[in-house]
Amino acid sequence: MTPLRDPEPRSFADLDAAPFPVFAPGSVWLVGAGPGAPGLLTLMAYHALTHADLIVHDSLVGEAILGFARPGARLLHAGKRGGKPSASQADITETLIEAARAGDRVLRLKGGDPFMFGRGGEECQALAAAEIPFRIVPGISAGLGGLAYAGLPATHRDINQSVTFLTGHDLKGELPTAIDWPLLAKASPVLVMYMAAKHLTAIAARLLEAGRPPDEPVALIANATLPDQSLVRLTLAEAATPRPLPTPAIVVVGAAVTLADTISWFDAAESRGMMG
Ligand code: SAH
Repeated sequence: MTPLRDPEPRSFADLDAAPFPVFAPGSVWLVGAGPGAPGLLTLMAYHALTHADLIVHDSLVGEAILGFARPGARLLHAGKRGGKPSASQADITETLIEAARAGDRVLRLKGGDPFMFGRGGEECQALAAAEIPFRIVPGISAGLGGLAYAGLPATHRDINQSVTFLTGHDLKGELPTAIDWPLLAKASPVLVMYMAAKHLTAIAARLLEAGRPPDEPVALIANATLPDQSLVRLTLAEAATPRPLPTPAIVVVGAAVTLADTISWFDAAESRGMMG
């Protein structure tokens, strides 16, 4: 039996009265903004945006999301833009701590999920050491949201019982040395890679060396969930050859990629029309 619904349908405006946790002055909320489409913000992220005094955000967080900020909120960009070096991690944490100590409600807003290749852990350690109260609001990571918008299931019963998320980029911008590529190639049927476009040729070469088939499908999903989302399909052998690739992008290696042929649903052109 379906339970009866509340006779008063709820609207988005009711969120203002919803029992969200109090965003206390002097605290920091570390919030994931999702992969880009504003509709993929969590309700808690929206609540934080409309209550923060200071918003310290990454380059991956676009205007469409920042537009929800409370009028009068201060916005501070902390991240790489136009090839300029990013603000140092120490400077960012110092800014968060100083602002919280001055009594601001500080929103640290990151693309995707703050704990998925987002240095969220480091920032929380610094806040904990400084005895600043903080809260973490998870977000939809690009490695899941991007796949959904490309029609590419991260798991599928006939294909994989595990999926591996990895970065193609270490702290210095090099191919990560801590990854055991032969073991990974053998153990993980589907790889979902962040920050992997720059070193894709080297990654593909390592996977081929480790025995992955040259015709294994690879997908690169760029600007996922946004009006300029694009998909590049390659074989692993093709991925081992240098070529210009759009970014930011998630790279997926494995048979799951072919499912996009039938499941792909997002029409980026249509979404451009809706926004413009
Ligand atoms: N914390 C983020 C990841 C930060 S690392 C998350 O959970 O999604 C930055 C990398 O994320 C980019 O280099 C790219 O690989 C990926 N990324 C973030 N947003 C993306 C998007 N809209 N489309 C494709 N890739 C994206």
